[in-house]
Amino acid sequence: MTYAIGLTGGIGSGKTTVANLFATHGIAIIDTDAIAHSITAPGGAAMPAIRREFGDAFVAPDGALDRARMRDAVFTDDAARARLEAITHPLIRTECERAASDAQGPYLIFVVPLLVESGKWRERVQRVLVVDCTEQTQIARVMSRNGFTRDQVQAIMARQASRAQRLAAADDVIDNDALHAPLAPQVDRLHAAYLKFAAQAEGR
Ligand code: ATP
Repeated sequence: MTYAIGLTGGIGSGKTTVANLFATHGIAIIDTDAIAHSITAPGGAAMPAIRREFGDAFVAPDGALDRARMRDAVFTDDAARARLEAITHPLIRTECERAASDAQGPYLIFVVPLLVESGKWRERVQRVLVVDCTEQTQIARVMSRNGFTRDQVQAIMARQASRAQRLAAADDVIDNDALHAPLAPQVDRLHAAYLKFAAQAEGR
């Protein structure tokens, strides 16, 4: 099985930005958010079960998930969230494994926003790479990117692992408070290390 890195970080930390830099080295990126989106698009693999479990009201006229309605429904209702995840998580896993078996290259990267929160993902990857920045930076980025209020961003952050919990789970850390730590050299350094680790794992 191809050597796998799990890339994670809090909302707005810069996971996509960092993943794009690894992709410039020819590394396959498997983005669980993009897969979650595709299985809930029109005709997506999760849609029949979502319609059965939650009803037509959660399906938009084009057949996609009504994301705003579902977000509201699960945000404070853990049981509803668990029902949704019981549908989506196995499909996401299957799709990730399919993408992983198709992936070319010396190692691959799974982008998993809630990796630290999920025991299964931690077991699936050889190393955990955390994209780190201060909470102030996260809040500022997400307010400006999504037009959210500070309270909205903080409510989302409160449902994710804390910065300290993520750092405790990290094998590697990228500092993305970018003013003092440009990303590209950090990615280049890690890429070189991952090539070595992957070659060693291959040789075993
Ligand atoms: P999410 O969890 O919300 O999907 P993410 O962790 O993938 O976010 P990005 O989308 O990469 O984060 O970055 C969040 C926002 O911050 C984007 O608008 C991005 O352009 C900006 N951003 C990320 N890193 C930097 C940086 N080093 N300098 C300036 N802007 C940045």
